[in-house]
Amino acid sequence: MLKVTSLPSDDKMCGWYHTSPSRTPRPGHTGETHARWAVVGAGFTGLAAARQLALNFPDDDIVLVDAQEVGFGTSGRNAGFAIDLPHDIGADDYIGDIPTAKTTLKLNLLGQTILRDLVDEHGIDCHMTASGKYQAAVEDRGVAVLDAYRRGLDKLGQQYEVIEGAALPEHIGTSFYRKALFTPGTVLVQPSALVKGLADCLPPNVTLYEGTAITDVEYGEKIVLAHRHGRITADQLVLANNAFGMRFGFLERTMLPVFLYASLTRPLTNAEQAQLGGKPFWGVIPADPFGSTLRRTHDNRILVRNSFSFNPDGRPKTSYLSRFADRHRLSFERRFPMLPEVEFDYTWSGSLALAQNHKGFFGQLAPNVYGALCCNGLGITRGTVTGTLLADWLANRRTAQRGELIDFLLATSGPNKAPPEPFLSMGVNATLWWGQRKAGLES
Ligand SMILES: Cc1cc2nc3c(=O)[nH]c(=O)nc-3n(C[C@H](O)[C@H](O)[C@H](O)COP(=O)(O)OP(=O)(O)OC[C@H]3O[C@@H](n4cnc5c(N)ncnc54)[C@H](O)[C@@H]3O)c2cc1C
Repeated sequence: MLKVTSLPSDDKMCGWYHTSPSRTPRPGHTGETHARWAVVGAGFTGLAAARQLALNFPDDDIVLVDAQEVGFGTSGRNAGFAIDLPHDIGADDYIGDIPTAKTTLKLNLLGQTILRDLVDEHGIDCHMTASGKYQAAVEDRGVAVLDAYRRGLDKLGQQYEVIEGAALPEHIGTSFYRKALFTPGTVLVQPSALVKGLADCLPPNVTLYEGTAITDVEYGEKIVLAHRHGRITADQLVLANNAFGMRFGFLERTMLPVFLYASLTRPLTNAEQAQLGGKPFWGVIPADPFGSTLRRTHDNRILVRNSFSFNPDGRPKTSYLSRFADRHRLSFERRFPMLPEVEFDYTWSGSLALAQNHKGFFGQLAPNVYGALCCNGLGITRGTVTGTLLADWLANRRTAQRGELIDFLLATSGPNKAPPEPFLSMGVNATLWWGQRKAGLES
């Protein structure tokens, strides 16, 4: 059996998890179970894959397992931007090559539609709001990125509004930024509430086991997934566990577990809300990818997200949290000097899977083993749509629109190989250090 050498173990301080409706997690797996399908990872990708497999194969049993509680992993700890537009951080204009950007837009829109329909159908209380997003700049480099992004949006035929710094306080309270581009298609969510809600409305032929970390795996005609309290034997396995997919023996050295950090304030008082001004609900992403993401939430808290670390084993380092909380405080004070007394209630981290070429994996990994892996930082829409389409591909279910998207994903080259250690850590750490330094006031 192959030993799974690193298991997820996120920190306990995720503000979204603690401020979303609590639920009783499904019990962990025990004993022996046989199923036609097993899906590992109950984040956006795995939840979507398990749901769609269940709909496409109504007579099959689908077992969905996660090492942690749903809503506690990365899918519940992100900034909650379900973005429609291509967000290619490898391209100068964030848009890149236009035919690829058009297909990416279709994928993201389908991901948004799938999520919106599920939220409506099941009444998931996750504050999903089609509020659009601001992409804001303060440094010269950031302003240049916005200009390039605007040209990219023109080429793609997408709507936007340019907002000069003097007008920004009416939107987001702060007068910190020099310029922003508002694009209307982004949907904001409370991510932990959304994934918890998705887990609680799975079709009846999906059995979800939480707190079940797969520690050993055997491949062959049947796939055996072993853990501390039992074994699951399946005919087919779908890996939807992002960078931890490498620990199952695939795509070695392609997905870099890069940690991001976020803090959430306490709710603002009525007087503080009046001092802040602006709209009651908004989201800002930085022009420079190393800058700060901000949100004002439905319950009048402010989220600050910045800072990165490379943790090759995919596990958090709690000692980093206080260091990055200090950085969040500095970013908050620069932007919101009118809110000097507002402290953070929560600071947490979460792991991305980043590929050097910014490509994800979709398709077959080995006989009877499939995967939708490597989120590249945009898993809310992308994970949802790739999980769904992987299940459609496995069922040979192709509508004209979905067939085109499946072909596009299958033809994608996938994440490329990074250099071996110690060069990998040296290279990634240097890139993160330099990127954050260059971001200047954007962070
Ligand atoms: C701070 C932060 C901000 C972000 N902001 C955004 C944003 O605004 N918009 C956006 O689209 N994306 C954002 N992201 C990225 C987004 O969270 C990810 O792309 C998304 O979570 C990927 O979903 P996934 O289901 O593919 O993987 P994950 O959410 O990582 O889920 C994989 C699951 O697999 C489980 N697992 C792993 N190994 C095992 C094992 N051995 N046994 C059992 N289970 C296992 C894990 O516990 C985990 O729950 C952000 C991420 C962070 C950290």
